[in-house]
Amino acid sequence: MEKSIFVKIIQREIPATIVFEDEQVIAFEDIQPKAPIHIIIVPKKIITTLNEITPEDNELLGYCLNVAKKIAFMKHIHESGYRVVMNCNYDGGQTVYHLHFHLLGGHKLNHNFA
Ligand code: AMP
Repeated sequence: MEKSIFVKIIQREIPATIVFEDEQVIAFEDIQPKAPIHIIIVPKKIITTLNEITPEDNELLGYCLNVAKKIAFMKHIHESGYRVVMNCNYDGGQTVYHLHFHLLGGHKLNHNFA
């Protein structure tokens, strides 16, 4: 299987502005930000889409949300507010097939989810 862009970032084959990393997760600035703060949070375990998660991943996915919260505090958007989003497959707008969360904030986000 072809390595995803995010695996290349994890393996330092391509650069990224990394804001958090440990043995389970990496988080970096989105290259095409949709808000003043737009961070991509990626579990290092290769899971292509939300359709592929299993109950074994529950702890890892919960941990990713804790990382999102930690970064929201680091970026001082925890009080103003933020959004955490995951896109699945074509209609969901997924373009990178390695499971990830978007953390968006830094201004008032609109309610257009469609
Ligand atoms: P999605 O469309 O949900 O799959 O999200 C993929 C996100 O990854 C998009 O917001 C892209 O802008 C972002 N992205 C793609 N390539 C890179 C990269 N090399 N560094 C940082 N973010 C990236």
